[in-house]
Amino acid sequence: MSDRDVLLISAGVIPMEGALLGPAGTFQDADLPSNVVLVRGGGRTVLVDTAAGQLDSEWEGATSNLEQALAAHGCRLSDVDTVVLTHLDFDHCGGAPDVPAKHVVVTATAAVWARGLRPDRSARRVLEALGDRLEEAADGAEVAPGIRLVEAPGHRGGHACVEIAVDGGRRVFLADVIHHPSHVEHPEWDHEFDTDPDAGLATRRRWLEELAGTGTLCAASHISGWGTIEPAGGGYRWQPAG
Ligand SMILES: [Zn+2]
Repeated sequence: MSDRDVLLISAGVIPMEGALLGPAGTFQDADLPSNVVLVRGGGRTVLVDTAAGQLDSEWEGATSNLEQALAAHGCRLSDVDTVVLTHLDFDHCGGAPDVPAKHVVVTATAAVWARGLRPDRSARRVLEALGDRLEEAADGAEVAPGIRLVEAPGHRGGHACVEIAVDGGRRVFLADVIHHPSHVEHPEWDHEFDTDPDAGLATRRRWLEELAGTGTLCAASHISGWGTIEPAGGGYRWQPAG
């Protein structure tokens, strides 16, 4: 029996052109999940990311269903006390205004980034809609018991991974550090979505190196299911968890 319940839940769909994930002809177009992580235990209910919510229209064909997706696991939106946002892209933060949680946490770096955007940009609008529920975390801060936001630069301003302590170890939500299991083997393929591709690649390599061979269960925003990072040849591969 785990000391806390950590669930990876698909709360939406993002239609993805294969060409955005790697070299031409490598991937078919596919519907990718928009995942959230629900952490329950010790009297707390923490939700990591929220899918697109009211911002579905930002991406053609994107859909989200956070309320129903959580309900399937016996969780109402009003049960969530803390929302942790890995970054302020529409498909991660758009549902946050609809969750009546007391605390909504982003990295201070992400908040500064969003405030520097034009007023009509969705990241800034979401930030403003959250008002004084918004809390800004320093890099590596424990934002809820046993949950840390660790900055993972390159993808977007203030983008962060989430480390979740469980059973004396940890799980890692990589958010948008990778977008497809093949990016573990080919980190250089995942550059289309990075604001700073060089920083994104360095971040990707650093996390893969750190996690490889440790057995740490990992997940990412647009990959189905937990997995581990395994050494393979001179690099790494994604191993889906049982
Ligand atoms: Zn994303």
